[in-house]
Amino acid sequence: MATCTYTVPDKNASGDNFYGQFICDQAYIDFFWFNYGFNGNKKYWDDGFGWHDCCNTSKPLARTFNALYLLNYSAEDYMNESWDSPILNWGCRYARNKLNDLRSKCGDGSAWAKHFDYWIFGSHVELYMGFFYSESVVERAATLIHEARHEDKGHNANFPSGSVFGAGNSGADSSWGYKGAWMYDALYLWWFYAAGTRTTSAMKQRARQRGNLIIDNAFATHPGYSI
Ligand SMILES: [Zn+2]
Repeated sequence: MATCTYTVPDKNASGDNFYGQFICDQAYIDFFWFNYGFNGNKKYWDDGFGWHDCCNTSKPLARTFNALYLLNYSAEDYMNESWDSPILNWGCRYARNKLNDLRSKCGDGSAWAKHFDYWIFGSHVELYMGFFYSESVVERAATLIHEARHEDKGHNANFPSGSVFGAGNSGADSSWGYKGAWMYDALYLWWFYAAGTRTTSAMKQRARQRGNLIIDNAFATHPGYSI
């Protein structure tokens, strides 16, 4: 971590102060650690990333726990994780099933998170400084859903003209109907904006903004929606 360069932005604006008041509880810490791909990966989360300081929301680990708290407890009826319910309910279950190996790294600034697939050798997800410090708590939760979706599907199109993600570059999804990582990402943000609980109105507005940004920029064919 000594080589990572980052600053900690306003933790009220990012939601880290709000969610940080809940996560510092051994029951949550154990639940997250053993269910979301951290276990066995201590070497990726110590040395400044927060393993020795997991309630400190200025550090990557606690900021990831904040996102996992949001993911697990934002549905009014959060005990219901049925696939027939909205993604606000089952998103936490989906991420739990798919994220088996979660690693924290500095990154080179070109991506905020990345999914690596090794054919028969397994897969892992890396989270970088942009994930921890440029994204709000709800955006981090949606990114975890995004990367979890990559266990099943990659991107299949280039970004459309005018896209803030880089027009013409690969990394887009062809359409909403492709049900790729961008669709899961935006759908989670949409449901959180519409029906999220145990949160703040500011966090809901962040979800709406990011959801619309994705809808407008990450699909080769515009889905035709606006949140
Ligand atoms: Zn992706």
